[in-house]
Amino acid sequence: MTLKLPVYLDNAASTRCDPRVVEAMLPYFSEHYGNAGSRNHSFGWAAEEAIDHAREQCATLLGAQAKEILFTSGATESNNLAIRGAANMYARGPAGSTGRGHIITCSIEHKAVLDPCKRLAKEGFDVTFLQPPPSGVITRAAVEAALRPDTMLVSIMWANNEIGTINEVPEIGALCHEKEIIFHTDGTQWVGKMPVDVERDGIDLLSWSGHKIYGPKGVGGLFVRRRKPRVRLESLVDGGGQERGMRSGTQNVTGIVGFGKACEIARAEMEADGIRLLRLRKKLEREMQQRLEVVQVNGHAERRIPGTTNISFGFVEGESLMMGIKDIACSSGSACTSASLEPSYVLKGLGVGDDLAHSSLRLSLGRWTTEEEIDYAITAITSAVEHLRRLSPLFDLHKEGIDISKIQWQAH
Ligand SMILES: *Cc1c(COP(=O)(O)O)cnc(C)c1O
Repeated sequence: MTLKLPVYLDNAASTRCDPRVVEAMLPYFSEHYGNAGSRNHSFGWAAEEAIDHAREQCATLLGAQAKEILFTSGATESNNLAIRGAANMYARGPAGSTGRGHIITCSIEHKAVLDPCKRLAKEGFDVTFLQPPPSGVITRAAVEAALRPDTMLVSIMWANNEIGTINEVPEIGALCHEKEIIFHTDGTQWVGKMPVDVERDGIDLLSWSGHKIYGPKGVGGLFVRRRKPRVRLESLVDGGGQERGMRSGTQNVTGIVGFGKACEIARAEMEADGIRLLRLRKKLEREMQQRLEVVQVNGHAERRIPGTTNISFGFVEGESLMMGIKDIACSSGSACTSASLEPSYVLKGLGVGDDLAHSSLRLSLGRWTTEEEIDYAITAITSAVEHLRRLSPLFDLHKEGIDISKIQWQAH
């Protein structure tokens, strides 16, 4: 088989919709096009039935009850609804007052968690942003040390989207339940790839997204625990009262059908997918480290989801590296495409220096990644790095054994 270029290694950003998902969705565009809220005719019933079925598929993946699943437009909305919805529901004082309650999160969460937390901080809540250790792993002990008598909500992601590290989620869940604090986790990079049991894992609120698990874009889920404890949320969107009043608006029937199907497939295939992806990811990391010097895999070495790696290459410039590997679709730790020249806040949060953060690549494998593609990526990245280093005077100095960081640069 000939290799089709470019090679897609950006599955942490989005995934190809599984053809089985597309097939399940198709009848709901122009055949069963009713509004699930229409209770008086078969078009409405068909839509409602399809949504009920998808809710079961989602609940089964999480070990939850169907009634505990809300459909949203994606993990961004789920995170906002969980965090702002819980904070506002259980706030101690009225809007505008101070000391409304304490929230714990972490500085390397996705922006869809950080930004709602920052908004709440402006609205009178106290927010602790835990700083991760160099491994990137947030432990139960770190959360425990930050607890206060007025802590009301903890939001810690399950697996990090940039580096793939896994936090101590079941342990943090147990801690929160002991202390009767609501625990939310952004499970977007974990759910559908690794097993979840919301009971065993002590989770009250869990966000995840369709397009990260081979489903469609624009649809996601939020698990909201209904017993022990029963968690209530203040809605962000008011209107027709859909989704138990917590998310009004006509349901995205096609999207929800696809999301449900993606969850069903993930449950059946995650174990085999995981074994295959872990082997390919390890091969990629091993070959990079064997063929090149000054290469660093960022984040914890072992506590990682199977398909994601983040590698920094010393003595190359991030932008040039991306230009040199045009046939590989991946993400860079360098935010040069945006207005700022700041490197990734996640890598900086781990203490990775600016140079190594700028010259990092996030390579994320997925259901359709082949060994051939990994071999291509290994060769392409290796030769791009070697080429750039041949042009680098700093790399020459490094090879001569001079410690660049100790050089006293002469100002003229
Ligand atoms: C992609 C992602 C999100 C955002 O999900 P959308 O469905 O695109 O809104 C949130 N959190 C994490 C960890 C992600 O990887």
